[in-house]
Amino acid sequence: MRKILVWFRNDLRVRDHEPLCKAAGKAEVIPYYCFDVRQFADIRYAFPKTGAFRTKFLLESVHNLGEEIAQRGGKLLVETGKPEERIPQLVATLGINAVYAHKEVTDEEIQVEEALEHALWRYKVPVEYFWGTTLYHLEDLPFPVKNLPEVFSDFRKEVERYVHVREPMPAPTRINVPPVMPPGRMPTLEQFGFAEPVHDERAVLAFRGGEPEALRRMQAYFWDNDQLQHYKHTRNGLIGADYSSKLAPWLSTGCISPRTIFWDVKRYERERLRNESTIHLITELMWRDFFRFIAKKHANKIFKAGGIKEAAVRFNGNPAHFERWRSGTTGYPFIDANMTEMMRTGYMSSRGRQNVASFLVRDLALNWVPGAAWFESQLLDYDPASNWGNWNYVAGVGNDPREGRHFNVVKQAREYDPEGEYVKRWLPQLRDLPPALVHTPWLLTASQRQQYGLTEECYPFPIIEPRGTPLARS
Ligand SMILES: Cc1cc2nc3c(=O)[nH]c(=O)nc-3n(C[C@H](O)[C@H](O)[C@H](O)COP(=O)(O)OP(=O)(O)OC[C@H]3O[C@@H](n4cnc5c(N)ncnc54)[C@H](O)[C@@H]3O)c2cc1C
Repeated sequence: MRKILVWFRNDLRVRDHEPLCKAAGKAEVIPYYCFDVRQFADIRYAFPKTGAFRTKFLLESVHNLGEEIAQRGGKLLVETGKPEERIPQLVATLGINAVYAHKEVTDEEIQVEEALEHALWRYKVPVEYFWGTTLYHLEDLPFPVKNLPEVFSDFRKEVERYVHVREPMPAPTRINVPPVMPPGRMPTLEQFGFAEPVHDERAVLAFRGGEPEALRRMQAYFWDNDQLQHYKHTRNGLIGADYSSKLAPWLSTGCISPRTIFWDVKRYERERLRNESTIHLITELMWRDFFRFIAKKHANKIFKAGGIKEAAVRFNGNPAHFERWRSGTTGYPFIDANMTEMMRTGYMSSRGRQNVASFLVRDLALNWVPGAAWFESQLLDYDPASNWGNWNYVAGVGNDPREGRHFNVVKQAREYDPEGEYVKRWLPQLRDLPPALVHTPWLLTASQRQQYGLTEECYPFPIIEPRGTPLARS
């Protein structure tokens, strides 16, 4: 019987997984996952490429995938190393006839694909790729990727009008494995240099990796808590589990497919209601697609300071300010609270991300690339196309049709956190400040500082002169 190795990547699920489905229907299957050492050891900056939260989430997701596969009679083989070196060895020792995998779009992943194809060429074993990470299938787009519109609304109009979202594929009921399989070995957090991250009670959610967890989250947000119908009006929230779906970490690891979410939204629209919120959630999934197709179109330009525009960029800020931004000690409470939340939990709201990114680029006038790398390290939901695509956008070197967009972070803080509840949650040293001052502690007079017990040691003065609200001098 033919043997097919199914190489799992950012697609850690058994439902709506075309390579697994196709392989299980016609061959003995070796389901395979390789923890790529470069994703953990590659330290370009003074922080790890993959931080503790995402590493833990990934370990849980792979563990869960193993269980899902075992329930269907299969066995997930887990190794640590370089896929392009490990897979050819398995091909040679197990007599594998083909490798099936989902196609990726970003530079590092493509380099691995090319190296693997090169290594397998010796054995005359083909790698067959499938498209399965977006809502809209690549082959269904009404334009070739090289002609992809650069403005999101143009992309959206075209795909909405012409493209049908394919139905998700059911999980295979049976996965046959070859009689002899190598044992493999699941790595531990400690092996990647991390202790178990401490769960912070203030976290929006106790995220756990894995396909069943993704399905549970969707069930809770859409059906049990019935929050989907309010999404459009709550999505700019900052506190709690239900202001947005929080599905991103599972989407990024592929524990759930966007098509599965789309069709559950459609069911919700049939069985409960269809309104601007249900439509808006789908629009957000389109943003995700948009950045993925943009990454495919522009290849590694999204990782460069000049972005997809190949802009000539100059940064004249103070490089020492980067560390203050990163550590959440800028003296701007809204920035510091968001950066602290990300560091302590691996998550930050969409509103927060837009503000801290804009602050780094527009207010501190610093290179955004290390900022995006810090997000890569910290975010549970890190996704190369979404992260670098959004950073391109905010930095003005990507797909924002408006030139020079600049968030006024104090105005934003007052609008989205009017009582200061969010900043006080993450910066408890500000808890006694009245709402009118909590976002601008630099306006406190010396006597007010004393009254609220706010010394320079417990909260810093702003690292740059605030716009429009200058420092109190008394
Ligand atoms: C600077 C910056 C960096 C970002 N980095 C990432 C990243 O690494 N990974 C990531 O998944 N998202 C990223 N985003 C997009 C967005 O902030 C998150 O997807 C969202 O906050 C995740 O929370 P949620 O699942 O509750 O989203 P919801 O609001 O519930 O949205 C549903 C889903 O739509 C998708 N989505 C929503 N907004 C966007 C967007 N702007 N771009 C792409 N997809 C979107 C996500 O998959 C999300 O899970 C970034 C945004 C900015 C401004």
